[in-house]
Amino acid sequence: MIQTVKLLKKETVANSTMAFHWEKPAGFEFTAGQFGDITIINPRETDDEGNIRAFSFASAPYEANLVMATRMRDTAFKRVLKDLPTGTEVKLDAPYGDFKLHKTETTPAVFVIGGIGITPVRSIIAEATHEHLPHKITLLYSNKTPADAAFTEDLEGFGKENPNFTFVPVYTSVSETEWNGERGDIHAGILRKYVSNVAAPIYYLAGPGGMVKAVRHMLVETGANEDNIRTEEFSGY
Ligand SMILES: Cc1cc2nc3c(=O)[nH]c(=O)nc-3n(C[C@H](O)[C@H](O)[C@H](O)COP(=O)(O)OP(=O)(O)OC[C@H]3O[C@@H](n4cnc5c(N)ncnc54)[C@H](O)[C@@H]3O)c2cc1C
Repeated sequence: MIQTVKLLKKETVANSTMAFHWEKPAGFEFTAGQFGDITIINPRETDDEGNIRAFSFASAPYEANLVMATRMRDTAFKRVLKDLPTGTEVKLDAPYGDFKLHKTETTPAVFVIGGIGITPVRSIIAEATHEHLPHKITLLYSNKTPADAAFTEDLEGFGKENPNFTFVPVYTSVSETEWNGERGDIHAGILRKYVSNVAAPIYYLAGPGGMVKAVRHMLVETGANEDNIRTEEFSGY
C-alpha cells in the first residue's frame, strides 16, 4: 500500500549512519523484519538511480514511530534525504518481504549480520523481547569498529531484558587493547563458540551482498543446514 508519511526526527546512530523517524500512519501494520520503499517527492536533485530506495524497518511493530537507518553515502538520494527538514512528507510503499522470525519456538535463531544489515534484526529482536517469545536468539554483529555499529545500546538492553537473547558484537578493525571481545572476520571458530549445535538453528543473514555470500559459504562449510539459511541482501552496497 502506498501512503504518505511525515519525517518526525533524524539522528546520527553510528559513523556516517543516520536514522529517520517517520510518523506511523493510522492502521499501518507490518511484521518485524519487513521493509518499505521510500520515494522522495520532488527532490532538488536526482541521478540515474532515481528517487526511490528500499529500507528495512529498524523499529518494531509495537513501537510508536517507523524508523529506518542507512549509511549516508554521497549519492543524490542520500544528499537530499540527509537535508530533509522535519515535517517533510515522503511516499512509503510497504510492507514487503519475508525476512521474519520463524514460528517454531524450539528451533534457535542465529543472526550473522554485517553493518547496516542490522536494521531488520533490531526490529525482530525488539519485537521478540517485547512479546516474551521463547525462541533462543543469538546475534553475531560485525562492524569495523564500535563507532560503526548502530543500535548497540538497544541491543545490549534487549540482552539484559531477554534471557533468551545473546548479543555478540564482533569488530574487524580494533586492537586487543581497544576491545577485549570478539575480533576479526566471523569464522567457524566464533560460530562454534556461541552455537553448540551448528546444524540446529535457522540462520538469518543481512547486509551488503558480498558479506552475505561469504557468511553463507562459511556456514555451509561449518555444518549449517543450507535449507535453514535465510537472507536479506541489501542491493546497492
Ligand atoms: C530488501 C532491502 C532492504 C534494504 N534495507 C536497507 C536498510 O535498512 N538500510 C540501508 O541503508 N539500505 C538498505 N537497502 C539498500 C538500499 O535500498 C540502497 O540500495 C542502499 O542504501 C544504497 O543506496 P545509495 O543511494 O547509497 O546508492 P545508489 O545511488 O543506489 O548506488 C547504487 C550503486 O552505486 C554504487 N555506489 C554508489 N555510491 C557508492 C560509494 N560511495 N561507494 C561505492 N559504491 C557506490 C553501488 O555499488 C551501487 O552499485 C535495502 C535494500 C533492499 C533490497
